[in-house]
Amino acid sequence: MNPKTHILGYPRIGPKREYKFAIEKFWRKEISASDLQETLSTIKNNNWLSQKEAGLDLLTSNDFSLYDQVLDTAIMLGCIPERYAGIKDELELYFALARGNAEHSVVALEMTKWFDTNYHYLVPEIARQQKFALNAKKPLAEFKAAQALGIQSKPVILGPVSFLAMSKTDAEGFNRFVLLSDLLPLYEDLLKQLASAGAEYIQIDEPYLGMDWDINLERAYAKFLTELTVPTGCKIILASYFSDLKDKALNYICKPDTCWNFLHLDLKRGQNSLKKVLAHLPVSKGLSLGLVDGRNIWLNDLEDSTSQAKEVIAQLGAERVMLSSSCSLLHVPVSLSEESELDPQIKAWLSFAEEKVGELVTIQDLCSESPSEKAQSKLAQNKTNLQARKSSPLVNNTAAQKALQEAEGRDTQRPESFAERIAAQKQKLNLPLYPTTTIGSFPQTKEVRELRNKFKREELSLADYETEIKRLTEEAIRWQEEVNIDVLVHGEFERNDMVEYFGQFLTGFTTTLLGWVQSYGSRCVKPPIIYGDISRVKPMTIEMASYAQSLTDRPVKGMLTGPVTILQWSFVRDDQARSLTSRQIALALAEEVNDLVQAGISVIQIDEPALREGLPLRREHWPAYLAWATDAFRLSCCQVPPAVQIHTHMCYAEFNDIIEQIAQMDADVITIETSRSQMELLNAFERFAYPNQIGPGVYDVHSQRIPSVEEMVELLAKASLVLPKTNIWVNPDCGLKTRSWDEVKPALQNMVAAACALREKVLAPRS
Ligand code: GLN
Ligand code: ZN
Repeated sequence: MNPKTHILGYPRIGPKREYKFAIEKFWRKEISASDLQETLSTIKNNNWLSQKEAGLDLLTSNDFSLYDQVLDTAIMLGCIPERYAGIKDELELYFALARGNAEHSVVALEMTKWFDTNYHYLVPEIARQQKFALNAKKPLAEFKAAQALGIQSKPVILGPVSFLAMSKTDAEGFNRFVLLSDLLPLYEDLLKQLASAGAEYIQIDEPYLGMDWDINLERAYAKFLTELTVPTGCKIILASYFSDLKDKALNYICKPDTCWNFLHLDLKRGQNSLKKVLAHLPVSKGLSLGLVDGRNIWLNDLEDSTSQAKEVIAQLGAERVMLSSSCSLLHVPVSLSEESELDPQIKAWLSFAEEKVGELVTIQDLCSESPSEKAQSKLAQNKTNLQARKSSPLVNNTAAQKALQEAEGRDTQRPESFAERIAAQKQKLNLPLYPTTTIGSFPQTKEVRELRNKFKREELSLADYETEIKRLTEEAIRWQEEVNIDVLVHGEFERNDMVEYFGQFLTGFTTTLLGWVQSYGSRCVKPPIIYGDISRVKPMTIEMASYAQSLTDRPVKGMLTGPVTILQWSFVRDDQARSLTSRQIALALAEEVNDLVQAGISVIQIDEPALREGLPLRREHWPAYLAWATDAFRLSCCQVPPAVQIHTHMCYAEFNDIIEQIAQMDADVITIETSRSQMELLNAFERFAYPNQIGPGVYDVHSQRIPSVEEMVELLAKASLVLPKTNIWVNPDCGLKTRSWDEVKPALQNMVAAACALREKVLAPRS
């Protein structure tokens, strides 16, 4: 007998993002609801059929979603806030929760990151007196849809403890987990309904098993694990992922009288737990081994996975083991099959969802007593590919490795103190009080996008393309001068994306044609792939920066994406520590910074919007991450002369808990998102005196609304209460690329007016 194979979930977007296009067409009313359902059913069925054909044993149902699986869970549990009560149509209600509904004037649920992935989920809202009611329609329908294809699937449902943990509640001091008593009967009812429909296995996702536990979460898990009643004949796969399991969690989990039959371990993140679990696993229970990485795109080491699996099988017996992906494959692209432009050498090192399913099937085959010839030849090919990757000159770049060695232990502190630097910068830049600036990008209009597409399709020569980009840049510079912004930007018209753009100039980087992953709803991102040592092939931004600077006497910011953000928004090589890869990026950026200085650029902004989201899931790992992340940032700019002003920018205001480390980055100026939260960040400054200059965003760039002068003055006045006036910059929350010029122009004019009003107030204070 062989251990069963399964995965925790499959990508929803389809091989060519059919999902996105169908949903967006529906929103634009170009297709009907039944057209939409039909396209989605086709994607879903194809997903199943391809997994079945690949030979996977246990296919997953209910991993598909019209928008988001957490939203599906909220609806399944009848957890829908009052404000949506007027919306009767099911689909209209669904999308109102996801995106808001102007007609009914309701806003959407809040959205937030799914753990440390780039997927975002909708945050359920729960009240103190929350009433739940089961609506099992969706999981049942999906189970039956698979059944219609002859597939006896394993439904996946988000578990009740994680559901409560990831919800939000306004009730202060309320222990949300008391609601578990109300939820458990609903889950029991759901399990019963699925079991009577024929489900033998049910996967309950409980990712919070591996997070930091406070006493409430601990009690909730104790209750859930021991009190949930499971219908006889039905087996529960309890799935943890993204983390190992702490001893305390294991103490509760590894008991005989608990609700699960198989415990899923993410072996890419949680190797530590395996030994301990094996030592304490009750004889009635089994393990699902997360061997194939669901978070990254590298070829699995089949030999290694097989030997790990065999070891566990030897101990438990095959019937107590399952072979699986580390987490849902939602976080990797669908298929390599259409990647015709990838270097074939590199392609041979990769594995997307479709290929990962194949890997599991091969591992299973290799675990048997006499593996098939097919599996053996796959293993041989796999060894060759892994070996080729290890020794490839595409991966190993001696110059980059040497640079990394030389930079080892470098003191990344700028030699002059902030006070000395700011004095030199003052002299050079001669800026007014409350200086104004923007974050970098200006509207990426249809014109800009068309320009880029034409150039890509070779309908426009490089020279003509560059002339057009420069014309747009000049217009942007002139306009900024006209409205009297103090520190200008060139507008980033030449950049499609703030990571991919830099990837073009760096070794060790590649991009895919269709390597999309779902970010939220219909939105997908296509992360570049970092496969090797990084070095700068040629200057990346110098031409545009010098051109823009040549047009004006005002300072124009050099604009770079920082080493942590480039790392965070890519698929990163797994054969060296992320910290090292980010140092390599930092060294390439340092060369660029140096060239910018040589070109006469006196203000350089290095964006790190992803620094916060890189924080490890458990707090115990925060200090190490923050230490290398801030050091990588400093490495990229520690060698500039004191009069050169370094800026950084971050989105999202949740910095209160890491503000000290942000200060460690020692940027002369940080611009940061704060307007949406009404400057909540400022609370941190009552506790901690932020030492350098700071621009708390006063204009919410995510909204079409044009902020008034008064409201921006008010936000700045708030900031002036906790920050020295001489340290405050005036700027929007983030880049303006998603806005239109009609919105940007009046908004920035108001912003400059607000800065002027503040300056007047300070110079001639009224009583
Ligand atoms: N400089 C970038 C821009 O303005 C920053 C974007 C970001 O922070 N996400 O678009
Ligand atoms: Zn931003």
